[in-house]
Amino acid sequence: MPFEEKFHLRIPGPTPVPPRVQHAMNRPMIGHRSAECSRLVRQCSQRLQPVFGTRENVLIITGSGTSALEAAVSNTVAPGEEVVVAVTGAFGDRFAKIAGRFGAQVHRLDIPWGEACSPDALKSFLASRPRVKAVFLTHCETSTGVLNPVQDLATIIKEHTDALVIVDGVSSVGGVACEMDAWGIDIFVTGSQKALMLPPGLAFVAVSPRAWGVIRQTEGPRFYLDLQTYHEDLERETTPFTPGIAHLFGLEAVLDMIEEEGLENIFARHRLMMEMTRAGVRALGLPLLTEDAVASPTVTAVRGTENIDASALQKELRRIGAVVASGQQHLKGKIFRIGHMGYCDPLDVLTLLSALETALHRLGGTVRWGAAVGAAEEVWNRV
Ligand SMILES: *Cc1c(COP(=O)(O)O)cnc(C)c1O
Repeated sequence: MPFEEKFHLRIPGPTPVPPRVQHAMNRPMIGHRSAECSRLVRQCSQRLQPVFGTRENVLIITGSGTSALEAAVSNTVAPGEEVVVAVTGAFGDRFAKIAGRFGAQVHRLDIPWGEACSPDALKSFLASRPRVKAVFLTHCETSTGVLNPVQDLATIIKEHTDALVIVDGVSSVGGVACEMDAWGIDIFVTGSQKALMLPPGLAFVAVSPRAWGVIRQTEGPRFYLDLQTYHEDLERETTPFTPGIAHLFGLEAVLDMIEEEGLENIFARHRLMMEMTRAGVRALGLPLLTEDAVASPTVTAVRGTENIDASALQKELRRIGAVVASGQQHLKGKIFRIGHMGYCDPLDVLTLLSALETALHRLGGTVRWGAAVGAAEEVWNRV
């Protein structure tokens, strides 16, 4: 590659940061108790509400996405209490591990990786576990590219238990329609570096009134991630600790971009990029991990073939200048994952598919030139 610093970052997070956001982050530093910082905190929190589909405050934590997962657990569950975690991949597994670490009695509903958790499976799992305090779900399971039917799952949970519905939206919020209030989600969390087009470093948590009731009654050791302190401080237009101020500068620019494009257009763009990616991959004869019905608009997992394994393809793509992600845990070496979220457009998808044609060819595969690109262009331009 002629340019060492030039590559196409197509992993499912961190994702590319728009130049406009990068510029905004270069503003001179300000004090974290200044009026300007208060304005940023207040306005960013408010402007994030429609992205989550909520009228609740969106709390801003300085930390990676996992800090928000941990906050969702440590503020709602005390040792010995029962929780259910629907595990559809590595991130559901992480939720289960966090809950276990905080002493919860964890009931894992393990779903084969690559499949979604169905409402029926959850319903029968909950039937024998009426005492659960919270059910943890992953909206987009980034490790497999599955979009779980969170709306239907939340309905089942509400029908059969009093449990809180707690959802990891780290790779969905900002790229996929999210209706926290309408769907009955009690705690909805995300991170900055996926569909929200920021560098890693911020996490966001939205909490329902019902969840606040539970949080107030749940004692446990927590300090940095005590959500009540974030809530009380947000009322005063500030944060308990020094926030990632440069990230707030960037977040304001991201929110400008989101409002200019419009959420519906953003969601349509992500669906289009998913369909283009899947059509292109199929045209090359590479198997997809997930079925169309459960495919996520933000990330696509591709299997290797008998002759060409997924990690070889990933390495060859890197040589060409395209960065994709490997599989996690038992899918390592079996799949690679293409991120198509955030600052990504149809032309980026064509570029990646073109690189995939070349990578496949260089590894000895039979490629009809333009097959993947052409299939994706057909999807892009269909009337
Ligand atoms: C990326 C991701 C996380 C973890 O975020 P970190 O910022 O790495 O802590 C959690 N859940 C999902 C679904 C993710 O995609």
